[in-house]
Amino acid sequence: MFQFRHSIALHLLVVIFGFYFIVTLLVTTIQLYKEYENTKKIFYEEIQLLPATFSQGISDSVWTYNQELLESILKGVYNIPIVVGVEVKSADHKMDYKIGAVLDNESRPLFYDSQGRISQPTETGLGSSSLFGHTFPITYNGPAFKDPQYLGQVTLYSNERLVFERVKYGFFLILINSVVKTFALWLIIFYFIKRYLGKPLNEFTDKIKNQDINEPKPITLELPWSDKNEIQVLKDSYNQMIAELNAKRQALVTLNAELDQMVKVRTQQLEKAKDEAELLASTDMLTNLNTRRAFFEIGNHLFNEAVRSGDRLSMIMMDIDHFKSINDTYGHSAGDKVLATFAQTISSLVRSSDLTGRLGGEEFALILARTDEQGARLLAEKIRQAFMTVQVDYEGQIITSSASFGVIEADPETFTLEDVLAQSDQALYAAKHKGRNQVVCYSELNSEA
Ligand code: GH3
Ligand code: MG
Ligand code: MG
Repeated sequence: MFQFRHSIALHLLVVIFGFYFIVTLLVTTIQLYKEYENTKKIFYEEIQLLPATFSQGISDSVWTYNQELLESILKGVYNIPIVVGVEVKSADHKMDYKIGAVLDNESRPLFYDSQGRISQPTETGLGSSSLFGHTFPITYNGPAFKDPQYLGQVTLYSNERLVFERVKYGFFLILINSVVKTFALWLIIFYFIKRYLGKPLNEFTDKIKNQDINEPKPITLELPWSDKNEIQVLKDSYNQMIAELNAKRQALVTLNAELDQMVKVRTQQLEKAKDEAELLASTDMLTNLNTRRAFFEIGNHLFNEAVRSGDRLSMIMMDIDHFKSINDTYGHSAGDKVLATFAQTISSLVRSSDLTGRLGGEEFALILARTDEQGARLLAEKIRQAFMTVQVDYEGQIITSSASFGVIEADPETFTLEDVLAQSDQALYAAKHKGRNQVVCYSELNSEA
């Protein structure tokens, strides 16, 4: 029964034929019962017909007291298959005789042998319930008598078991017949359900199990028919589902690739924006020079470089003179233009190795690599002269200005960038103090003091 749970054919057939077998058994039992009843009726009729055959001989032998003849007739009757016992009760009891299974006065079955002695019962003679008798009178119709003379009675016994025995064999055949037929039918239907239902379903299941989950393919079934039945429909639906799944997955793959591409582009854009932002943060918008932050960053590098190489390094601090009054006279935008012009003037005169920065407001600084005080002073002077001759055209108004310069040859071994800046600021302050529009070196401050 292990397979019972695994085979739809077996399961169906066990259920169907279980019921079918019970029904067959019931019908056969009813048939058996009916046949039994019918046979029993025939038995009664046969028994009732017997007296017509034997009564003449019996009454003659009783009338003549011919014991021998009576016994031989009765033994003959007893030998008839449906008779299991015979009892003669003569009126004067002289001719009483019992043979076979006979019921006594209390309806108890007793068995008599051919000599009339009680003996062991035979198979068919037993059972008071199944033993039944038919009694008929013994009469003599001699020529001397007007009316028939009553001589006694004969009882013929039969047994319902005999009826059963007679019916039994026939029904055994019927039962065997229906069991064999049922089994044959069972095998045939089992084979076809398995072939038409079980096998395709198994094949279907196997193919689904063997599918590559990442790349399922439509499946084909070797079906023993071509019509569009439930299994075909199931298979087609499955294939359609697989196709839709594959299409969706393909769409997802494409979408993923597109997303990847978009992320790449967006990353590049972000990097570019970041570079631009960094540049903005390190470049002053108005003058295009380094911001204070960038100036200090690069300036520190130059300082370290100078320490390592032992090269000279100079710094120039610059501040536009009376810038506030330019703002006040011409407006802030005019001031901006002057600032931009000053930055351009510086840029046009420095080398690419020089570091220029706008430290804030109208204050600028320069770090000159491999340059001594002399060289720095010369450059400052050049810028000063160039700037004071520049004419800034602001909305038709010509603005001229000047700037003051503080110059120092830095000592990077001893002083930091901040120190040097403060020192050059002192020189610048001195230039302002001296009347502006001039260059003052830090080295001159002490000598003057
Ligand atoms: P001094 O000769 O002593 O340097 O005098 P000054 O007027 O140049 O110096 P002060 O420090 O008194 O004035 C600087 C002015 O610069 C004040 C401020 O409003 C102005 N300023 C600072 N940054 C900017 C800017 O970006 N654009 C404009 N137009 N003006 C600015
Ligand atoms: Mg100023
Ligand atoms: Mg200033």
